[in-house]
Amino acid sequence: MGALLDTLAKKKILVSDGAWGTMLQSRGLTSDDCPEEWNVSHPDDVRAIAASYVRAGSDMILTNTFGGSRVKLDKKKLGDRAAEFNRAGATLSMEVAGSAIVAGSVGPTGEFLQPMGLLSEEQMQAFFSEQIEAILSAGVRVICVETMMALEEAACAVKAAKALDASVEVLATMTFEKGAQGHRTMMGVSPSQAVAGLTDAGADVVGSNCGNGIEGMIEIAAQFRAETDKPILVHANAGVPQLIGGKTVFRQSPADFAANVKALIDAGANIVGGCCGTTPDHIRAMIEVVNTLR
Ligand SMILES: [Zn+2]
Repeated sequence: MGALLDTLAKKKILVSDGAWGTMLQSRGLTSDDCPEEWNVSHPDDVRAIAASYVRAGSDMILTNTFGGSRVKLDKKKLGDRAAEFNRAGATLSMEVAGSAIVAGSVGPTGEFLQPMGLLSEEQMQAFFSEQIEAILSAGVRVICVETMMALEEAACAVKAAKALDASVEVLATMTFEKGAQGHRTMMGVSPSQAVAGLTDAGADVVGSNCGNGIEGMIEIAAQFRAETDKPILVHANAGVPQLIGGKTVFRQSPADFAANVKALIDAGANIVGGCCGTTPDHIRAMIEVVNTLR
């Protein structure tokens, strides 16, 4: 067993970190900027975000490498710097982690697999492989594949990590919206299809992140738990996104966020944390609840 599953077995419930994107924005990142480029140009800001979650008490923190695949970075003409940005981002989290586990964040490429898109599975997996290899080169032993909409793409990322090093622990989460059919990703994947596909690909932990707030995650966690005995990870947003003054904001307070944590864990979640709009205060409030349940 690796460090993550080992720690989970000991502590029963782990609390992860909160948002990165919205925290970077609060430090001045604009939509024109490349978040991963900040690992090189603004290392103190990135390190400070990681450190703020360690101070809050997170058992696990992520890395500022979400959009770090060459094909995604190429949209900002920075694809050739993929390895540099990923290694730097992983290093910044490792520097401040202390006893917290560092999980390398791997998000979608923004591309589709054939026949809908241009990439073959081999090409897609190779992009993830380059990114993940750079993250692992900083000493990271856990990869968090997240915000996935397409199961085949998520599977490519999980397989890329396991092919590089079978002992690397891989968490894989997809993003669901609730519609007439129930919870589905933008590409139409249901929670039960996600469990089956992510497990087949080799994920050690499955789950959901982002989406429409922690309340909806309770139902998603229960649907995952009905299909699997694997640990379930949930990274929930601070409420439903609202468009205010042309900006997307998430306004759920730490107390309101934390009020859902017991139900989320009762529904089957084992690793809980935040996504968009959550802050170290949301994580602190979450930990207070988790400490009463451990
Ligand atoms: Zn999010």
